[in-house]
Amino acid sequence: MTEAQPEAACLFCKIIQKKIPSLIVYEDDRALAFADISPQAPTHLLIIPKRHISRLADLQSGDEELMAHLFVVVQKLAKENGLLESGFRTVINSGEDAGQTVFHLHVHLMGGRVFEWPPG
Ligand code: AMP
Ligand code: ZN
Repeated sequence: MTEAQPEAACLFCKIIQKKIPSLIVYEDDRALAFADISPQAPTHLLIIPKRHISRLADLQSGDEELMAHLFVVVQKLAKENGLLESGFRTVINSGEDAGQTVFHLHVHLMGGRVFEWPPG
């Protein structure tokens, strides 16, 4: 989905609106976090802005505080899941080459196993 397509068709907007069920682990006025439906690690959460932004590539001036807020939520959830000392991986896929499949900006938070580098 590009920015031009309606948010009504966006899967993660439907999760925000509770029209599609998810395992929500954090919510405030700007952000939502929920369990990835296809976890790639023992902890695999998605942290999203409530405002529809399709891709990291579509960020605009004025989004600085929102993005910083998402990463403070990431840190809080990493702490809650006991990952601060062992380590964790954050990923934002932007666009097709990166493998983005859901076009509502999301931060993957993964932990509980050792990750390889470079990623595939
Ligand atoms: P990406 O490939 O970076 O766009 O990541 C999209 C992620 O959304 C994938 O890890 C999917 O497993 C996850 N996903 C897709 N549908 C759902 C859903 N209904 N609830 C939770 N996670 C989902
Ligand atoms: Zn959306």
